[in-house]
Amino acid sequence: MATKKVIEETRKILKDIFGYDEFRPMQEEIICNLIDGKDAFVLMPTGGGKSICYQIPAIMRDGTGIVVSPLISLMKDQVDALTACGVKAAYYNSSLKAADAKDVLERFESGKLDLLYVAPERLLSKSFLQKLEKIKVSMFAVDEAHCVSQWGHDFRPEYVRLGELREIFPDVPMLALTATADEHTREDISERLQLTKAPRFVASFDRPNIRYLVAEKRQPLTQILQFLEGWPNASGVIYCLSRKRVEDLAVNLQRHGISAAAYHAGIPGRSREKVQDDFLRDRIKVIVATIAFGMGVDKPNVRFVIHHDLPKSIESYYQETGRAGRDGLESEALMLYGSGDVNLVRRLIENVENIDQRRVEVHKLNSMVAFSEALTCRRRVLLGYFGEALDESCGNCDICLDPPATYDATEFAQAALDCVREVKGHFGMGYIVDVLRGSTNARIREHKHDKLKTHGTGSDLNADEWTSILRQLVHHGYFIQDVSKRAAMLATKKAEHIGIGDPIILAKYQPGIKRQFKRLGTPRDEPLFKKLVKLRESIAEKEDLPPHVVFSDVTLTELSQRKPTDDDALRTISGVGQRKLEAYGAAFVKQIKDHVEKSDGALENVGGKDIPKLIAKGPGLTETQTYTLSLQRKGGMSLDEIAVEQGVSRATVLKHYVAIIRAGQYIDVPGFIGENFETIMAELDDADPYASLTEIKRDLTVDLDNDEFRLILAWREAIGVA
Ligand code: ADP
Ligand code: ZN
Repeated sequence: MATKKVIEETRKILKDIFGYDEFRPMQEEIICNLIDGKDAFVLMPTGGGKSICYQIPAIMRDGTGIVVSPLISLMKDQVDALTACGVKAAYYNSSLKAADAKDVLERFESGKLDLLYVAPERLLSKSFLQKLEKIKVSMFAVDEAHCVSQWGHDFRPEYVRLGELREIFPDVPMLALTATADEHTREDISERLQLTKAPRFVASFDRPNIRYLVAEKRQPLTQILQFLEGWPNASGVIYCLSRKRVEDLAVNLQRHGISAAAYHAGIPGRSREKVQDDFLRDRIKVIVATIAFGMGVDKPNVRFVIHHDLPKSIESYYQETGRAGRDGLESEALMLYGSGDVNLVRRLIENVENIDQRRVEVHKLNSMVAFSEALTCRRRVLLGYFGEALDESCGNCDICLDPPATYDATEFAQAALDCVREVKGHFGMGYIVDVLRGSTNARIREHKHDKLKTHGTGSDLNADEWTSILRQLVHHGYFIQDVSKRAAMLATKKAEHIGIGDPIILAKYQPGIKRQFKRLGTPRDEPLFKKLVKLRESIAEKEDLPPHVVFSDVTLTELSQRKPTDDDALRTISGVGQRKLEAYGAAFVKQIKDHVEKSDGALENVGGKDIPKLIAKGPGLTETQTYTLSLQRKGGMSLDEIAVEQGVSRATVLKHYVAIIRAGQYIDVPGFIGENFETIMAELDDADPYASLTEIKRDLTVDLDNDEFRLILAWREAIGVA
């Protein structure tokens, strides 16, 4: 077990080197497990913070940590980022010039590296293995571990031999990491890497900062241009099904003045690399791509992903949308959904020879269609597909933001359940709908299902309405579709409650999907943020680094919210470690000071409203506090709703509010307190300056609980009256 001292040391490294105040869920456990010398298998979504899980142990343990990574471009990126934080890291792959490779090996062999990134085929070469025997290896980290599995979406034959490492180095701990959400692939990975006995760390695969939107595809170019208006200067990816569509759309976007480029496997390697690099360095904003694009790009500030065409499965949709918002900031995934695309894919599937494969493909397509036409929370459908339950609706998808009308559908659910029971499995959704609607087609007659009690009981509704009901019942967990039996509908345990439990409330079916939302944006001093982006660009240019390696968007956002003007304040900003403080601190402080002097006393504009600028008196916000702020701002959620959403008490949310105000962020405290606000303020103005807070509170004519009282005190401090 890791001792208290070890834990303290990991936290110190997190702060001093990476500039972060707290670990994310599971990071600490994973790190301690590895420091204890044990293997582990880490399943965490993109952006979850996997890298730190092996980087910190590698820094702390004796010897060099070996990181296996499939893509050369990613290695360079990671090493650049680590070097910028002052970590001794290097990579060894075929892209290095002979002299540089020699230099890396020298540093490696003399034990001067904490981390070495290696391509798998290099690692398993005889000569390299011999080198490894001579030096102290602190651990192996296998990144993108799904590459070892043929089930995964990116199988790489050179990964297969990595299992051998367990035999050659039985005493060196191995950490495998992946963002794959598919159980099948996970099993395969742990077997191939001989990690079946290792503990598994499974994080939630929810990506709360991604807003899922689906719109009916009408005029895709116009729709995309409209969407882009909401994201000026932001980076994003647009996926299309074919190379031709990619080329056409890229040209069209360029014509409309968008900084866009095409990317697909038919473009020569060199040009493709350049596009990728320009995107990483913010020189190109929008990439229009086939699915060939993605794996090689680890860009944290991708703000949106658009699907121009239907993705081929929910897995692909999740992977592709997952490339947005790795930095945790607000991002959007828009899918344009057209029935033409569905028919196209259906025709392609019809050509698949192998029957079993065809069935799997059909099921995948149907799940994708069900997701697109869902009338329940998208996130619930998405996570449900991967077996993860979401108790509350998410509040951040098109359905939650603009919910369709609902009605009591218990009676229909009962009919569906009776029918599913009567046909005793083996029959899919379409068949159930036909029976309910009283069809007498050949298949129904053949099974004598026109004699069933439920036959024709649902003839009041049309087929689309029934399909919608059945899909929703699947999304809510009353039925499952068994893939191994041609997606046959089966009732679950939960279905036993139909008719005896609570009424079943479903969304009314509406043909067509058309929704438009306003984005409120991250609350920050936008003009300052823009200046900081410029400054970051010029530093990145000088040092030949991607801008996000200098500081992430998260760091710039926090800088433009809290406006630190000295080193101590700067140190409290997320992402500012010791090395970056020394290297870039002065330049950023100067820019912030400049800006503050010029705009003193001004009002801040948040979500179109002018609000008083608050004085920051406390430290920055933790991730949960930031989440509260964003729910409050963009969801317009009340305190109680936020408490429910986060699964915490009202008092905790009030404490968040206090921290938010103390960090100089606006919360409408007068509005929150309501009609008594002015009275309270006046009484506090008049309060005896020598009285204790308990006495002052007691003497108020309005009853406040302690947390409300603290909130008002924080407010008074922030507006400069206390
Ligand atoms: P993954 O590899 O799982 O996709 P990364 O390791 O790239 O994710 O981390 C995603 C982002 O989150 C990075 O910008 C990283 O620096 C940041 N991050 C990781 N851990 C923390 C933490 N404890 N606090 C704040 N930010 C973190
Ligand atoms: Zn939702």
